[in-house]
Amino acid sequence: MSSLPISHNNCDLEPIHIPGKIQPHGFLIIVDHNGLLQFISDNAKVFASKNNDTFLLGKSIADIENIFVINLPAGYFSALILNSKSENFDDINPVKIKLDEHDMHVILSASSNYYLLEFEPMVSTQYASINKRLSSAIPQMLAEKNLIKLLENTATEVRNIIGYDRVMIYRFEKSGHGEVIAEVKNDDLEPFLGLHYPATDIPKQARDLYKISLTRLINDVDAIAADLITYKNLATQLDLSFSQLRAVSPIHIQYLKNMGVASSFSVSILYNDELWGLIACHNYTPKFIDFELREVAKLVGQVLSAAITFRQEEADQQQSHGFHINFDKLSKYLQGDNSIEDALTKRLENIMQVVNASGAVLCFENKLVTLGNTPTDAEIHNLIKWLSEENKHGHFYSSSLPAEYPAGEVFKNVGAGILSITLSKELNEYVIWFKPEILHEIIWAGNPTKTLTVSGNNVLTLAPRLSFAAWAEQVSGTSESWTIDEIKSALRLKDEILSTLHVKASATRLLNERLKQAYEELDTFSFTVSHDLKTPITAIKAYSQLLELESDIASDSKMILQRIGNRADKMNLMINAVLEYSRISRHPFQYNYINTEIIIKEIIEDLSHVFNACNVKIKIGETPALQGDPVMLWQVFHNLIGNAVKYSQNSNSPLVQIEGKISGTQVLYTIKDNGIGIAENDLDNIFLLFSRMENVKDIEGTGIGLAIVKKIMQKHNARIWAESELGKGSTFFLTFNRK
Ligand code: ADP
Repeated sequence: MSSLPISHNNCDLEPIHIPGKIQPHGFLIIVDHNGLLQFISDNAKVFASKNNDTFLLGKSIADIENIFVINLPAGYFSALILNSKSENFDDINPVKIKLDEHDMHVILSASSNYYLLEFEPMVSTQYASINKRLSSAIPQMLAEKNLIKLLENTATEVRNIIGYDRVMIYRFEKSGHGEVIAEVKNDDLEPFLGLHYPATDIPKQARDLYKISLTRLINDVDAIAADLITYKNLATQLDLSFSQLRAVSPIHIQYLKNMGVASSFSVSILYNDELWGLIACHNYTPKFIDFELREVAKLVGQVLSAAITFRQEEADQQQSHGFHINFDKLSKYLQGDNSIEDALTKRLENIMQVVNASGAVLCFENKLVTLGNTPTDAEIHNLIKWLSEENKHGHFYSSSLPAEYPAGEVFKNVGAGILSITLSKELNEYVIWFKPEILHEIIWAGNPTKTLTVSGNNVLTLAPRLSFAAWAEQVSGTSESWTIDEIKSALRLKDEILSTLHVKASATRLLNERLKQAYEELDTFSFTVSHDLKTPITAIKAYSQLLELESDIASDSKMILQRIGNRADKMNLMINAVLEYSRISRHPFQYNYINTEIIIKEIIEDLSHVFNACNVKIKIGETPALQGDPVMLWQVFHNLIGNAVKYSQNSNSPLVQIEGKISGTQVLYTIKDNGIGIAENDLDNIFLLFSRMENVKDIEGTGIGLAIVKKIMQKHNARIWAESELGKGSTFFLTFNRK
């Protein structure tokens, strides 16, 4: 094996210090695949008196091993490296060596083109007892079903192993923000539990490194990092991701110093190969923990990672199972209930339970039904308007609504996050779920803001409480995110509601069709029956009149014959009324301009012949024109005015008042009398076919007139209703649309 020729004339081979640095509690040599030393930390000489940093560059590892290693067979490391089949040295790390009478660990690792040999002091002497302790502690740690308790147990174990002043479990959210969710510490230290950190506190590249290298020791924040020396042409090719000794970024050092932390150690917690969190340990004086002890802590982290993965999956499954169960119940209610609203909102299992929301609203058939904490009705209406204007159809979700919909800022405390499904775009029918702003929740939960003081300084004042302020600013207006399971569950519900609506719509259509048929049959039936009855009745009347004319008929018999004639008349009247009623449906509808004044006057004239109505005063006010079918509207006014006269003619100074007025897009007519009146609980019945009230027994009538009126009004898309007081009189109100 030949060493590289060093020539100071060759710029590329000139040894230089490169930006890469290491922490000075150990030293580093890096060799290439041929075993030639290409990098060395300039503090190597401190550890090995025989060392001269630059002259070793380019030498073969076999040639220089004896400088560092005195207790291992010659060529031990060169054999390891040159015969290395894999790039993984986990099985042999750390190699224990003696260097100038000091016990040292050598930690080997491979980086793309090189092998790293890191030399660190070895200080632990109690592995046996620690390992023993661990073997009983781990089952105990895992026995905890509750995740937070499990994390607290882990923090306690790690603190027992490494003896740091503070051990925290720090969890990352998807967005990169973090939270301290478990902590054990010296009593005199202020708690960090519950504090939140912005994603920027641990930048993405740092988080990526935590995934590659599962433990990280910062031995002493005040230590001056040692430079690496290499040849100029290699200066940019060094990747220290796997290095134990890799120096710390100045910003992170400052961050730790601001907290008064002198040493920091972390163990990564992974979930599905992603960084779930960290076991973050702080000591307030420099504290070195050697590789072997770090590995024990790493093992605890790995056990915890496995436990979290298991528990998280279990929790996810449980949650998803819960959504399914509630969905199944809602689906059953949807099938069984006549009302979609009742099925989705009236029971213990309602739309709230198919996702994790703190509020929900069903906007259906022009109605809002809210559950839990939601924005106000007006805010929801505006939100729906926005959803439809922005074409957020199908489904839409956001965990930072105010950023997309600024008007949402006012209700972010209940709905910084929304998930919506559209039932009908045209009818503005939606289900919307809400999640509150995280910050709002945490502030309500208490502690962090109490001690929050924000000074005007910038990066140099990075500290936990200030981090909380920065975090608070970053997460303002955001909610917990919507999980895939929640979105799936919402979409499943959407499908179910739509298919129920479809089934119900088909059933209603079918019923309508049948009803129409039945009505038509009934109309035809009443028409034919009435028509057929008219002939025999007319015959009865005629025969009775003929008999009456006989001179020798007894007076009793004459009276009976008169009664027969009267009954035949009444029967005729009824048959005519029924015919009229059935005719409304078959009558071809004509839409004309109607001079109401003329009609009313004609009717009054007409009525004066029918009733002995000379004592009834009729007052006619304004009579605005109407549009509709002239024959039908004539019937309406005829029936109503006729009733008013009929049912008031026995009162003292009977008075009927007819008046119309235009009100916006409508014309309102009132027909008022001071007659016998209608009992309040009868007001709904008067429009039913053949219904006559108790107090009209002595007054002639068929009970069909108002049913005809109602049917005609419906045909005109107009409304009719009555107000009345027994013995005082009645008022009938009619509203027609103006075209
Ligand atoms: P009828 O031929 O009996 O008048 P209607 O269908 O016109 O039949 O009215 C139904 C019932 O409503 C009447 O029998 C009467 O009891 C009540 N009614 C209608 N109009 C009046 C009114 N102006 N005053 C009191 N009762 C009325």
